[in-house]
Amino acid sequence: MSHPLLAVERVSKTYPGGGSAALHDVSLHLAPGELLALTGESGSGKTTLLRLVAGLEEPDAGTVFLNGRRVEGPAGKLIAGHPDIRVVFQDFRLFPNVSVAENLRHALRQYDAAYRDRRLREMLALAKLESLKDRLPRQLSGGEQQRAALARALADEPALLLMDEPFSNLDPALRRDLRGEIGAMLAGSGCGVILVTHEPADALSMAGRVVLLRAGRVLQSGSPRDLYRRPETAYAARFFGPANLVPTGDLLPLLEGSAAGRLLATQLSPLVGRTLCLRPEHLLPSPAADAHLGGTVQAVSFYGAYEEATVALKAGLSLRVHVPVGHWQPGQPAWLRLRESAWHLLAV
Ligand code: ADP
Ligand code: MG
Repeated sequence: MSHPLLAVERVSKTYPGGGSAALHDVSLHLAPGELLALTGESGSGKTTLLRLVAGLEEPDAGTVFLNGRRVEGPAGKLIAGHPDIRVVFQDFRLFPNVSVAENLRHALRQYDAAYRDRRLREMLALAKLESLKDRLPRQLSGGEQQRAALARALADEPALLLMDEPFSNLDPALRRDLRGEIGAMLAGSGCGVILVTHEPADALSMAGRVVLLRAGRVLQSGSPRDLYRRPETAYAARFFGPANLVPTGDLLPLLEGSAAGRLLATQLSPLVGRTLCLRPEHLLPSPAADAHLGGTVQAVSFYGAYEEATVALKAGLSLRVHVPVGHWQPGQPAWLRLRESAWHLLAV
């Protein structure tokens, strides 16, 4: 492996007066230019880890290395933080009384005029803010402010950018647009990025790699596809989207009704004692003759692009299934196939 930009080695942190550890034995590595999403529910330790990485907080144990050099905590420093690391907070923190261009120039104030002018032009172009450069922050939309804050953070080519819940103050439509815009800006910058977000959709759609924290520990890390399709735990499976978690032994007797079902049962029978994770879009409505399973549609909810049906099987088992809008009505018989190689077994 090439030498990482960032190495977090077994850090732990308990706040004074806090009961359990905010972080426990957490390690992670980041390559140059990589975008890593740090996700988990509220209180899982995301912000604490970001603050340790930024040198704004000292770990109780473990070490943070940036380019092989230890990142010092805040003790004894005149200016908190690390000179090669930028943090973008959710409230942007632009200077309110000066223009976008002045905000960027301020971030470049210690450099010579040639570099300053070049980076100002490059950042305005990257953020698509050329025509808005003379406006005050309050004269920009939320998304434009977000792009301006990011341009300011990237202006002098930091090694590492940390973003803590950068979309949480923005409405959902803007959030969807910004994932693409900010993702493109970050990819164009070449900067290593840690994006903290409690929204699984942000993590899955923007990151090259995702780290899931739970109660201060790394529960699982991997590519977005791995975490969505190959969750190791029930918690990870549910965190990243709706999941039917079915004990293999409960499913087996229901597969005896058809040839396809019996074939699948022979594949699954060595796996009794394990739990299957079936995403609702991995269960497909099928003609009765080819079905693995049969049941009755109990309820249908409209989600815009699809509907989620609850299908009651025998033995009290029910499955959530995503189907085209209008495909099923409650009360109707439902025949299902498990999509080829889409089923997955939890590790525990
Ligand atoms: P997240 O960003 O994932 O929501 P945090 O890192 O903010 O999580 O918090 C992790 C845990 O540490 C939580 O239990 C929180 O209550 C606690 N915590 C965070 N900051 C402090 C603090 N300054 N003092 C005491 N406890 C804190
Ligand atoms: Mg937080």
